[in-house]
Amino acid sequence: MPSYLTGLIGSGIGPSLSPALHEREAGRHGIRLLYRTLDLDTLGLAPEGVGELVRAARLLGFDGLNITHPCKQLVIEHLDELAPEAAELGAVNTVVFRGGRAVGHNTDVTGFAKAFARGLPDAPAGHVVQLGAGGAGAAVAHALLTLGVDRLTLCDTDPVRAAALADALVARFGEGRAAPGVTAQVADADGLVHATPTGMAAHPGLPLPAVLLRPGLWVAEVVYRPLETELLLEARALGCRTLDGGGMAAFQAADAFRLFTGLAPDPEQMLADLTGL
Ligand code: NAD
Repeated sequence: MPSYLTGLIGSGIGPSLSPALHEREAGRHGIRLLYRTLDLDTLGLAPEGVGELVRAARLLGFDGLNITHPCKQLVIEHLDELAPEAAELGAVNTVVFRGGRAVGHNTDVTGFAKAFARGLPDAPAGHVVQLGAGGAGAAVAHALLTLGVDRLTLCDTDPVRAAALADALVARFGEGRAAPGVTAQVADADGLVHATPTGMAAHPGLPLPAVLLRPGLWVAEVVYRPLETELLLEARALGCRTLDGGGMAAFQAADAFRLFTGLAPDPEQMLADLTGL
């Protein structure tokens, strides 16, 4: 029976759902897969310690790793090669060890893209406002412009972050495709994408004034714990088409599982698992 050793490097990852998602999918394929959390906080390592952990994992025979906050950029200098999305984005959430090489991928981008295409098919994509220009925001913005959004307005309580992400996106996708802006521009948008932590238990509330929501606006959420955020509840009450953050979380895991094992995962079953966890 083939067996795989995988894991997750990040900070505060004790409650991660990734071990259960990967190990259950492996069980359905009749393979053994162990998924370990390598938590920087528990190990007493600084984020820069990611290099040491990647080297150790490689020596110990790991097949691959997921990488999360705060190491998605820091890990890059410790890899031999990057897949195209990871190279363009400058962030890695999945590392595969194969043939003596460590290759970085970004399945946050592909995971969000699949969730969006599945959950909001044919959503009008002329102008989209995105709240949050952090780690998740960078991946989601890249996916949106790849999917064909014409113009993305980026809002962040830290305007420097919004401007820096807009600059990086313009360099990749062309003049006029992204710009920093303000939340009130939702009035002129087809859709709203939320990529800040607002709506999680530690950050309750709405990320923008409720009066800016209106019927006809579609709303995509990145937060997935809980799946039902205040933003989604408000938007749905108005009749907006909505997408929760579960699809991105499950489909990034499915894409990582495929990279780790070479097997075709069942993304819908992984999403059902996530919803039930
Ligand atoms: P981050 O800290 O890197 O970025 C969050 C950004 O939001 C920061 O730049 C902050 O200044 C900004 N912000 C906070 N409140 C705001 C507001 N009200 N309006 C505008 N900007 C605001 O965090 P992150 O890693 O990008 O994670 C953000 C959320 O995405 C978290 O809840 C995380 O759990 C979720 N996430 C989901 C998935 C998934 O697969 N569904 C993947 C990654 C992250």
